Amino acid sequence: MHDVLILGGGSGGYACALRASQLGLSVVLIEADKLGGTCLHRGCIPTKALLHAAEVADTAREGEAFGVHSTFNGIDMPKVNEYKDGVIGRLYKGLQGLVKSRDITYVEGYGKLVAPNAVEVNGERYEGKNIVLATGSYARSIPGLDIAGRIITSDQALTLDYVPSSAVILGGGVIGVEFASVWKSFGVDVTIIEGAPRLVPAEDEAISKTMERSYRKRGIKFNVGVKFQGATQDAEGVTVTLEDGKEIRADLLLVAVGRGPRTADLGYEAQGISMDRGFVLTNDRLATNVPGVFAVGDIVPGLQLAHRGFQQGIFVAEEIAGLSPATIDESGIPRVTYSEPEIASIGYTESVAREKFGEVDSYEYNLGGNGKSQILATSGFIKLVRRKSDGVIVGVHMIGARVGELIGEAQLIYNWAAGAEDVAPLVHAHPTQNEALGEAFLALAGKPLHAHA
Ligand SMILES: Cc1cc2nc3c(=O)[nH]c(=O)nc-3n(C[C@H](O)[C@H](O)[C@H](O)COP(=O)(O)OP(=O)(O)OC[C@H]3O[C@@H](n4cnc5c(N)ncnc54)[C@H](O)[C@@H]3O)c2cc1C
Repeated sequence: MHDVLILGGGSGGYACALRASQLGLSVVLIEADKLGGTCLHRGCIPTKALLHAAEVADTAREGEAFGVHSTFNGIDMPKVNEYKDGVIGRLYKGLQGLVKSRDITYVEGYGKLVAPNAVEVNGERYEGKNIVLATGSYARSIPGLDIAGRIITSDQALTLDYVPSSAVILGGGVIGVEFASVWKSFGVDVTIIEGAPRLVPAEDEAISKTMERSYRKRGIKFNVGVKFQGATQDAEGVTVTLEDGKEIRADLLLVAVGRGPRTADLGYEAQGISMDRGFVLTNDRLATNVPGVFAVGDIVPGLQLAHRGFQQGIFVAEEIAGLSPATIDESGIPRVTYSEPEIASIGYTESVAREKFGEVDSYEYNLGGNGKSQILATSGFIKLVRRKSDGVIVGVHMIGARVGELIGEAQLIYNWAAGAEDVAPLVHAHPTQNEALGEAFLALAGKPLHAHA
């Protein structure tokens, strides 16, 4: 009998395995495909590699504006893929080495929960005092829209060996806008369709507005507040129809409407685990209703992000080891969209904060006053949302090139429940984009420096 059996070796599962073994527990990690899961092989890492290649393409295209002779001569997609796969390969090798070095029993195969304390893999039964479900997610489509041929999800989009001349993207959330950004930089004619009234609808409204302005400027087309009706494909392309009667013709349709939990036929329901629309329900200590069975990552309702999975995996390992870790505050999980411009946020949007806390005020610092942002020729802003009752910052929202790198400080500010008077005295290096956060806090403390009062 092992201490912990973990089903799924993605961000949540492998983080749990590494921490549990560190704590001296005997661990079995079961993975059907590749250690590292979606994030490493089909998610975070490959998309960010493509986005970096896209940034290089833009730099080549825009060199003259900085006095550097350069031209953009096109994309060699096999070469881009070689670079992307090289990054994945090195990280994959490192992760395999890490798991090997930690005395974890790694089992390759498709596991099924056959008892509240047992998983069957390749005809063999493994028993554990605790079980951690970490089977992750898959790219969803919508009813009647089959993924085949020219209708693809992010899985296929990441392995294309050519650059399409045009693409329609169904979904203006994180994955949709990231692909729109990459493809536009690669020279693709891109159109996004989003049923909600704005792009990146989970973000603060001010962020969506600036994002839409930037995308318009970049020539990325989008239809918001309109529903998709259907799509047909033939040898030459795909025709997408919207409910307002509009038709859009393109080489490809990328379906980016969200991710569903991968939990079907794995024995979860059969063992009495409470589920809701395929998601595994847990309490705030990530325990399911069945004693000894925990769940982490994308199968647990909430933000589907790799770093949430890591933290949940670590949490469950420590819980099993009896360390009684502090629960994870979901609102304190940073969110970054790595498009051009980037979006980074933490805490609540202004409208949600108002609903939740009553009176709030907000301050926007325009990157126009930030030296490094001017050097990078980027625009955007940092918006702080403050609770009036005690002055605590309950939301930080940022947009502009590279602002994802600023989320580290924003996260400390939010999670340490800091106010303007806590941050304003701290010195921010000049000229950095990070300084814009410092300036925003100086302004909020009533002593703006490079900003109008
Ligand atoms: C295009 C894209 C871009 C993304 N970008 C980001 C980003 O920039 N930042 C970020 O934080 N997140 C990003 N994500 C989300 C991130 O990838 C997920 O949140 C994360 O991978 C979830 O981890 P997980 O452990 O829950 O599941 P997964 O990573 O999906 O891992 C689950 C693992 O379980 C295995 N498995 C499933 N069933 C079984 C079984 N029966 N037996 C054995 N093994 C099984 C699977 O093979 C898989 O390896 C992105 C996702 C996509 C699709």
